[in-house]
Amino acid sequence: MTIQHTFSILKPDVTKRNLTGAVNALIEKAGLRIVAQKRIHMTRAQAEKFYGVHAARPFFGELVEMMTSAPVVVQVLEGENAIQRYRDVMGATNPANAAPGTIRKEFALSMGENSAHGSDATETAALEIAQFFAGNEIVG
Ligand code: ATP
Ligand code: MG
Repeated sequence: MTIQHTFSILKPDVTKRNLTGAVNALIEKAGLRIVAQKRIHMTRAQAEKFYGVHAARPFFGELVEMMTSAPVVVQVLEGENAIQRYRDVMGATNPANAAPGTIRKEFALSMGENSAHGSDATETAALEIAQFFAGNEIVG
């Protein structure tokens, strides 16, 4: 059994539609514990750093605009194999391809406004958590 932490963002399309609790219910139903959470309005610098890996992609400008367009909820989720488990709960990047019951199938509006972010590996999870949380803000 591997207990992991993963980093989650509930994106602007979630906060704008008042769906934070509805998404959190799916997260908790999947057996993940929300061990840190705060609502922030990302700055352009934060969004550009966070999605820096996509800087050369044609959708980068649109992605940064979207992530800074309204508040987001940043979270640390804890659980057994939390990184892959949360990717499974989120569903495919394109909501048209997401499985029923996943966050993106239930709530996402489009490929860009796709409701949630989840880390893709242990190294990126650690870096992403450290970008937004101090150690003493994570209470398991
Ligand atoms: P995330 O990193 O947000 O968890 P992901 O790992 O499923 O999502 P990535 O390929 O890392 O997908 O893309 C990062 C984000 O960029 C996507 O979640 C989406 O919001 C946006 N994005 C990806 N592809 C496109 C696209 N073709 N057009 C518009 N936005 C896109
Ligand atoms: Mg990604």
